[in-house]
Amino acid sequence: MKKIAFFDTKAYDKYWFDKINAGRYDIHYFENKLTADTASLAKGCDGVCAFVNDTIDRQAVETLVSEGVKVLAMRCAGYSNVDFKAAYGKLHVVRVPAYSPYAVAEHAFGLLLTVNRKLHRAYNRTRDFNFSIVGLTGIDLRGKTIGIIGTGKIGEAMIDIAKGFGMRVVAYDLYPKKDADFEYLPLDELLKQSDVISLHCPLSDSTYHILDRAAFQKMKDGVFIINTSRGALVETEALLEALNAKKVRGAGLDVYEEEGDLFFEDYSGEIIQDDLLALLVSRPNVVLTAHQAFLTEEALSNIAETTLGNLDDFFAGKPLKNEVCYYCHGPKKEGCKRGDQARCF
Ligand code: NAD
Repeated sequence: MKKIAFFDTKAYDKYWFDKINAGRYDIHYFENKLTADTASLAKGCDGVCAFVNDTIDRQAVETLVSEGVKVLAMRCAGYSNVDFKAAYGKLHVVRVPAYSPYAVAEHAFGLLLTVNRKLHRAYNRTRDFNFSIVGLTGIDLRGKTIGIIGTGKIGEAMIDIAKGFGMRVVAYDLYPKKDADFEYLPLDELLKQSDVISLHCPLSDSTYHILDRAAFQKMKDGVFIINTSRGALVETEALLEALNAKKVRGAGLDVYEEEGDLFFEDYSGEIIQDDLLALLVSRPNVVLTAHQAFLTEEALSNIAETTLGNLDDFFAGKPLKNEVCYYCHGPKKEGCKRGDQARCF
């Protein structure tokens, strides 16, 4: 039976993977994140399963390869934490391109509703038998403009929800969809026109700090910012300044630039050594969740199903439809062999 080292395990991962694995792989669950320091835990394993805050840099890749690992199965869609250049030709990397765009979009819209109508504050008040509603005023979303950056699977699901609320949708994407039933605008124009800006593009060199100080200056006063994609899309210091200046009326964040060492863990008894995060959390108009937008039963079941299916294809010598590699992660380049016909290398 093939052995799989499973990193950054949480109870819900183990529940869904054990249920869907049903004994087909010998899965070794580790609570540790996968890093250069922990990669040797995969000694003797045929494959490794990793998640969003693991650090699969060159050193980690080299250790995995030297320990005999041949496949890295990311149980997530994003892969900005993998050094593809180091992995190319040695370690196949597969991922779960879509497990439930609805889970993430519904959470993103939930964050918007929460910061707008101040549900987090109302919840705390009524638990304390404080039934005052002073300071809880929001805005109608109907008729307002939402700017969607990245109109892939999650962006589209978000657009459907926003339309249901009667919002005007504008969007920006490097690769606009043909026949879209919403308006694409240049990024600067989207920043100027939007009452709500929601990020749904991946993190890459071209999207790092896509919302930086200059971008915040172009926005309408009183804009809402929603980020369920990756923390480093937003320059945190610039967001804090924009919150202080009331340029940003509220922010709903499921991700944070420096979340790697913090999110998914309980630090409630400790002093967090991250002043920017502490400042963000202290703002009454910021709602922060710890990268949980994907966390629905449907998504977890699909993640386990696709990840184990990717491993089945790998060990059966089949083409890997969900492979990503250095040569062309992102849109397929001419000559790419990935897909139904072949493997990346
Ligand atoms: P997708 O690949 O379907 O869509 C991404 C879209 O972004 C594409 O249309 C692409 O053309 C566009 N894009 C790429 N570069 C761009 C750029 N420079 N400017 C504007 N648009 C650009 O991906 P998806 O499934 O919709 O996921 C989107 C992101 O959501 C992921 O990359 C991941 O970071 C994040 N995510 C978060 C969670 C969570 O739990 N919070 C879960 C899943 C995914």
